[in-house]
Amino acid sequence: MKAIVIGGGIGGLSAAIALRQCGIETDVYEAVKQIKPVGAAISIWPNGVKCLNWLGMKEPLRKLGGPMEYMSYRDFRHNQTMTRFSLDPLVQSVGERPWPVARAGLQEMLLTAYGHEAVQFGKRVVSVESFADGVRATFEDGHTAEADLLVAADGTHSAIRSWVIGYQTERRYAGYVNWNGLVTIDEDLAPANQWTTWVGEGKRVSLMPVAGNRFYFFFDVPLPKGLNEDRTTARSDLQRYFSGWADPVQKLIAQIDPQTTNRIEIHDIEPLETLVRGRVALLGDAGHSTTPDIGQGGCAAMEDAVVLAMTLQTHSLGIEDALLRYQEKRAWRVKDLVLKARKRCDVTHGKDMQETKAWYADLYHETGDRILAGMRETIVGGPLG
Ligand SMILES: Cc1cc2nc3c(=O)[nH]c(=O)nc-3n(C[C@H](O)[C@H](O)[C@H](O)COP(=O)(O)OP(=O)(O)OC[C@H]3O[C@@H](n4cnc5c(N)ncnc54)[C@H](O)[C@@H]3O)c2cc1C
Repeated sequence: MKAIVIGGGIGGLSAAIALRQCGIETDVYEAVKQIKPVGAAISIWPNGVKCLNWLGMKEPLRKLGGPMEYMSYRDFRHNQTMTRFSLDPLVQSVGERPWPVARAGLQEMLLTAYGHEAVQFGKRVVSVESFADGVRATFEDGHTAEADLLVAADGTHSAIRSWVIGYQTERRYAGYVNWNGLVTIDEDLAPANQWTTWVGEGKRVSLMPVAGNRFYFFFDVPLPKGLNEDRTTARSDLQRYFSGWADPVQKLIAQIDPQTTNRIEIHDIEPLETLVRGRVALLGDAGHSTTPDIGQGGCAAMEDAVVLAMTLQTHSLGIEDALLRYQEKRAWRVKDLVLKARKRCDVTHGKDMQETKAWYADLYHETGDRILAGMRETIVGGPLG
């Protein structure tokens, strides 16, 4: 059996590795000549880590991950600890650690595992067709490719999604802008083994350790869409939005490199009921675009990859049947993740400021039990438990 995989990001490469592991031949086609991941780092929660372990990347992943052992929320103005707790009860309960990793390292790890030379770069798909006995992809340069099935992992702006689901989707602006990047670890900012988040005014600032003595930082600010801001204005924009915030936040703003700081308007897409048409399956952001508020978009793409490969391997009523079973397993799961993230997004970013203030007040009484229970529920809902 042979599969065409469209997209060489987290989803496409995880899928290609998973399919190959199950004995399915794969050809990966990626639109750009060189992948430059959007965003500096991501947190891979234990559900995603288990998928990468299953795909044979247990050891290399550990070399990329930062030692995130504690979690803490701090008051934005006085730097007072609202809550601080160990992540170990979560790790013990689900049987795996979370690993925050730099995106460039993750992309390189996936490419190394699959084989750089096995990816065909500069191949932008423009259309796909599904027949009774196969699929065909047509590329911008006129080239066509045929196989038994096609995995559309071409991201949130997918060129294939509307063909699969039968209508055009709108991306929904979530109401806030995220700036992110990497800085050298400085314990004057926060402990090196902790995920530290300052919250107030519906905004947040966060630091997570990744390998190489670096903190992944991000700033979130509720703002209208389409402001005239970019890298050149990043530092002064952040100084203005975080005026009056505690010293570590000011120090962090002074330490960022605006040239490598990303500014992203955060969107999601209403969850889809359909992920499959004939022999074509949507995977990763092409099938479910979420706000990053529970850090699960990339993890869900890894889950998709594992479930797709397992479903094809364990069923024998044909490819269309196996893909429908993939859809049945994944549609409810990813809907749950997208809606959970949306809810968290609204509380964190002051959609209803009363509710956000109630959350800030709750954080002073948080022992970790409630937050970790929520994370556990999300994690064990993944395909590998
Ligand atoms: C600010 C931010 C923070 C995030 N934090 C986290 C986190 O902490 N944890 C987490 O799990 N997730 C996180 N995510 C989500 C995560 O980044 C995405 O879910 C993940 O990158 C999706 O991977 P993908 O492969 O589906 O899509 P993409 O990474 O977008 O890859 C799609 C690939 O397809 C290629 N492509 C596009 N169109 C075509 C075409 N027509 N033909 C061929 N190739 C094409 C693109 O060039 C790209 O390489 C975050 C997202 C954001 C924005």
